[in-house]
Amino acid sequence: MHDLLIRNALLLDGLGAAPVHGDLAVKDGRIAALGRDLGPARETLDADGLALMPGIIDNHTHYDAQLTWDPAASPSPALGVTTAIIGNCGFTIAPCRPQDRERIMRNLTQVEGMALDVLRAGIRWEFETIAQYFSMLERRGTALNVAGFVGHSSVRTYVMGDDAPRRAASDAEIEKMRSIVLGGMQAGAIGFASSTSPAHNGEGGIPMPSRLADEKEMRALVGCLKEAGRGVFMLTKGGQTGMPLLEELAADSARPVVVAALLHNSTNPRVVFDDLDAIAAAGARGRRMAGAVSCCPLSMDFTLHSPYTFEGLAAWKPAMGLAADAYRAKLADAGFRAAVRDEIASPATFRLFNGEWDKVQVVEAARPEHGRYEQRSIAALAAQAQADPLSFMLDLALAENLDTVFTALLLNSDEDAVGRMLRHPASLVSLSDAGAHLTFFNDAGYGLHLLGHWVRERGTLTLAEAARKLCGDVVALFGIRERGALRPGYWADLMLFDPAVVNRGPKHRVRDLPANGARLTTPALGVHGVWVNGVRVADAAGTRGIDCLPGKMLRDFAA
Ligand SMILES: [Zn+2]
Repeated sequence: MHDLLIRNALLLDGLGAAPVHGDLAVKDGRIAALGRDLGPARETLDADGLALMPGIIDNHTHYDAQLTWDPAASPSPALGVTTAIIGNCGFTIAPCRPQDRERIMRNLTQVEGMALDVLRAGIRWEFETIAQYFSMLERRGTALNVAGFVGHSSVRTYVMGDDAPRRAASDAEIEKMRSIVLGGMQAGAIGFASSTSPAHNGEGGIPMPSRLADEKEMRALVGCLKEAGRGVFMLTKGGQTGMPLLEELAADSARPVVVAALLHNSTNPRVVFDDLDAIAAAGARGRRMAGAVSCCPLSMDFTLHSPYTFEGLAAWKPAMGLAADAYRAKLADAGFRAAVRDEIASPATFRLFNGEWDKVQVVEAARPEHGRYEQRSIAALAAQAQADPLSFMLDLALAENLDTVFTALLLNSDEDAVGRMLRHPASLVSLSDAGAHLTFFNDAGYGLHLLGHWVRERGTLTLAEAARKLCGDVVALFGIRERGALRPGYWADLMLFDPAVVNRGPKHRVRDLPANGARLTTPALGVHGVWVNGVRVADAAGTRGIDCLPGKMLRDFAA
């Protein structure tokens, strides 16, 4: 007798095969059989033409902190995600000595847009090492399956303390870091993650520690993966990190390399395609590499209290880490504004904001007399006022105690270009950033957006192709075993959905974080059921609450 029988579904195998109509049976948490006349089950569900695919494997999340207070990993399971990879960009919370907790949290507030009072009230610090952190997640349970990277910045902080964001490491320090990375791999990490991106700054605009690593340190730490014989190297790269070095790292370690974050920039439209083509060429030379792309437009809500949008600019640095009055004076300063304007006008390989003021809008004005600005672009408002756009935005914010909420459509807004990126053979659909930047945006529903927007609305991918990109491609690259495909014997991680309706709904603000913190979220549309290891974690009405924790800590990856 099966535990569950889902009948009459359009089965998408997650590997790209043409969809077939059929039944799927689940027993003891695994897919028992596929086909017709599979025999009796304790529970039978008539799918009535809905599509059934493997659960989505979100390969770029930042749930490291959230999972310690929210094992339900809200909102991902309701959005079809059954496995989350954490620790991306190297921003983990383990290893961490007790005296470094405050520093790690303060860095996260900046680099991942998490509020300090949320982190202080929320994080359960019941660990010091990576192994202890994984064990804690396992002990307390999670709604979805979790796999974690060893995070370069945390490893560096653990070994170098105050000096981690300041200087290159000595040979002795590199040796200590190597032993921590190897220990993390032994504890079951899925790989090693790092960042060289200038957009990644800790508190006060100080670079995140991994940005201080020289080539020698990078080679040594990525070399740990060769020694472990497992694991993926993931890097969010800055413009100065060349593709030839990354190809060398892939060749020397004989491990896959995931290159992030390849987002399309309308003011420098070739650069992501150059990167993807270089990755494809490396693939032709036998390296396993993938370029992490997003299927979502990158838009960010922000206020000038914490303008992540601009903080990657060198010219913005003087404004960071200032106390309130000094900060305001800086924003008003003509020289500061001129420097920012100049930098935005100069070419760059990767930059969040590139002076597209027509894509920056006022969402919410704080003062009633400014209500007429709402939903209008800074370009239009500045033209009307015969003002410079940057000055218009800053003056408006200064007049409103910096409380004006703006939104900026930063990258990935050219849909023809994004469509080509999604179809590029070297691309990996990624970059949800779930768990981070919660007040700026929430792309945890990227998989539903892929199925609704890119499959149904635009026809860029077929359903089978999209399911493969969300599942089969990811497990193959990351070496995740017995998941990501509808196959007998595989774990029953499943999503049942209506292809005619599936999408993510409009974003809205909720206050459900520790310390009453706010975040943006999006509801699921057209999702009828999500199962993790055979247990239903979400139905058409949403998730089943924090007591439903069937997820596993994944620690055993293919070589
Ligand atoms: Zn990230």
